[in-house]
Amino acid sequence: MDYLPLAFDLRQRRVLLVGGGAVALRKLRLLMRAGALVRVVSPDLVEAVREYFGPQMDWRCGLFEDSDLDGVCLVIAATDDREVNAAVSAAASRRGIWVNAVDQPECSTFIMPALVDRSPLLVAISSGGTSPVLARMVRTRIEAMLPGNYGRLAELSGALRHKIKKMLPDVHQRRRFWEEMLQGRFAELALQGQNQAATQILEESCVRLASTDSVGEVYLVGAGPGDPDLLTLKAIRLMQQSDVVLYDRLVSQGVLERCRRDAEFVYVGKARSDHAVPQPQINELLVSYARKGMRVCRLKGGDPFIFGRGGEEIEHLAAEGIAFQVVPGISAANGCAAYAGIPLTHRDYAQSVRFLTGHVKNGVIDIPWNELLHPGQTLVFYMALVSLSQICTALVEHGRDAETPVAVIARGTLPEQKIVCGTLSTIAERVSSVGLRAPTMTIIGDVVRLRDQLAWGHNP
Ligand code: SAH
Repeated sequence: MDYLPLAFDLRQRRVLLVGGGAVALRKLRLLMRAGALVRVVSPDLVEAVREYFGPQMDWRCGLFEDSDLDGVCLVIAATDDREVNAAVSAAASRRGIWVNAVDQPECSTFIMPALVDRSPLLVAISSGGTSPVLARMVRTRIEAMLPGNYGRLAELSGALRHKIKKMLPDVHQRRRFWEEMLQGRFAELALQGQNQAATQILEESCVRLASTDSVGEVYLVGAGPGDPDLLTLKAIRLMQQSDVVLYDRLVSQGVLERCRRDAEFVYVGKARSDHAVPQPQINELLVSYARKGMRVCRLKGGDPFIFGRGGEEIEHLAAEGIAFQVVPGISAANGCAAYAGIPLTHRDYAQSVRFLTGHVKNGVIDIPWNELLHPGQTLVFYMALVSLSQICTALVEHGRDAETPVAVIARGTLPEQKIVCGTLSTIAERVSSVGLRAPTMTIIGDVVRLRDQLAWGHNP
C-alpha cells in the first residue's frame, strides 16, 4: 500500500489554496464542503472562485510567499505553473505541513482520492496516482450501487447509536443487530425519510433482542486452493460477517484479506508433522467461541469435506448443539487441474477420477493399489510430495504402465504456481531435482498429456 486514506476533520481549520483558476476552483469546492477556512493566494481569480468570498474564504492578491503558510494545516498548490507548485510544495514540506500539488504526485505529501459523497457516508477511491481513469470508473460503479439518499441512513444510525449501545452492551450481538437492521425494514424507512417509523422499528427490535440469549453459529467455509477469486459468494458473505476466523496453514493471504478486517484471527494451522493445534482442541475452540455468542468462521483450505476433517468438526458441533453451516470450496484437485490445463476426465482418456491421500502413517501408505490400475482412471493424490517415489513405484509394481504421464503442481492457482511433468518412472527424480515445495497435487493419467496438446504452458 503506497498511500493510506485518512478522513480529515477540516471544519474551521485553515487551508491554503495557491491558484485561482479552474483547477483551484475544483479543490475550493471540496474544501468549502468540508467546512475548511480557505485562504486563496493568486494574482487573479476566475469569476466562479470569486463567488465563494465570505466568512469561509478570503483572498490575498499576489504571488505565493512563505508567510502565506502561517497558521495553515494543509496546502493545495493548484496553479497552472508546475514550478510554482513545486516551490509551494517545498516551502510547505520545510515546515512539515501536508501539501498536495495537483497532478504532481512527486511534489505531494498527500494525494486526493476520487469521492463518492453520501455524507456522512464517504467512499474514497484512489489508484495511487497510477490511473485516475480507473479510479473514476470504479467511482462510477460505486455511485450506481449506493442510493443517493444513503447518507440519511448513516445519519439516523448515528443519532441512535448511543442508545442502542446502552441497550445491547455485547459488541458481537450489537454488530449483528446493526447488520440486520441496515439491510431490513429500518433501512428502507430511513431511506424514504420516515425517521420516526424507522426509529420505532429499530427500538422494538432492540428490546426483543436484548431479552433473548445470544447463541453463536459456526460456518465451516471452504477457502479454495489459494486464488481468492475462487471463493464462492456465500463464502465471502459469511467471512464478512464473522466475529472470529480460525484458519489453517493452507489458507492464502489473499483469502484472509477477504475476511472482515476487525475480526479476531486465530491460526490453528497444521504442518505435516507439526500439529500446531490438535484437532480436539480446534473442536473445543469452535464450541467455546460460539457459546460466547460469536459467529465463527472456520476457514479450511480447499473443500472442508475433502481430506479436511470437516466431518469431525461438525460431528462435535452437532453433539454440543451448536448451529453450523457448511460452505463447499474448490478443492485443490479441481483448482490445480483447471489452472494447469488438465481435464480430470475426458471422453477419450479418462472415464473416472479418484481422489486419494499419499499421507504416510508408520512408514506405510494405506491404499488399495489393485483398484488403481485401469488406464481410464485418473488418480489425484493429495499430500503426496514426500511419498511420491513410493507411490509411483507401487503403481508400476502392481501393473500400471510406467509410461503413464504424471503432473505435480505446487502452490496451484497462486501466482507462484509451478508444474513439473513426467511419467511414473521419471517424475520423482524430476520433482526432487527442481526442489518443489509443498503443498503439491499429483495428477496421474493420460489426461496429463492434454496439457501439451492444448499448449497450455504457452497460454496460461
Ligand atoms: N481440503 C483440502 C485438502 C486438504 S489436505 C482441499 O479440498 O483441497 C492438504 C493438501 O491439499 C496438501 O498437502 C496438498 O496436497 C493439497 N493442496 C492444497 N492446496 C494446494 C495448492 N494450492 N496447490 C497444490 N496442492 C494443494
